[in-house]
Amino acid sequence: MLTLLLGSGILSGDAMSGMSIEQLDPIVLEQQLSSELKTKIESAFSSYDLNSDSSYEKFLDTTHFFNDRSYTPGDLESIHSDFTFNNARKFKLRKEAGEQFADMARHFWSAFNKKKKISITSTFRSYDFQKKMNGSCHAHHCAEAGSSEHQAGLAIDLGVNGRRLDSASFEWMKNNAHKRGFHNTYQKGVEIDGKMVEPWHWRYLGVKLATELYEKKMSFAEWYYQQK
Ligand SMILES: [Zn+2]
Repeated sequence: MLTLLLGSGILSGDAMSGMSIEQLDPIVLEQQLSSELKTKIESAFSSYDLNSDSSYEKFLDTTHFFNDRSYTPGDLESIHSDFTFNNARKFKLRKEAGEQFADMARHFWSAFNKKKKISITSTFRSYDFQKKMNGSCHAHHCAEAGSSEHQAGLAIDLGVNGRRLDSASFEWMKNNAHKRGFHNTYQKGVEIDGKMVEPWHWRYLGVKLATELYEKKMSFAEWYYQQK
């Protein structure tokens, strides 16, 4: 590649002026090129904010916690929807996630000829609640307090008509949830996601990232560690 660049004159003239003999060494030059390329790739990756506690794209797993372990989102709201099986208003999500969920619940209901409604089992769970809950939890099931997507106010555990998601409903979710920014976080098993498969657990990531994961057929953790 280097020879090609030199031969084509891309690295001649201005690009070469001011460089020491040492920098003209092909190995050093190639290292510089690849670090430039690396920076480019990294900046494309960082178009997502995977680290800030209040980011919709915050990555959480057994080794990635909230920077402030007892973080509570500032914009939690009751979900305003009349298209869920149970009373959505008893459950809280962050404002944008709740609005997108309400929209998804309405589409779900109409996709199944108004015969099925999403039922909600759990949404926001505080740090303290998660801490208490973990006492009665199986390994690889509940997230440790300070690392749960439920604490982020972005995750929702759901079923259909008060029961588990049946396969047609799950299929609909898999093909449509990303349009409203939702992603099934634990879909590939402990080895990849660090948790057992949870078809009921959907997490808001925003439409852009959820759609990217849908198109790549990847789980959030799978994608995250591939970027690293
Ligand atoms: Zn969950």
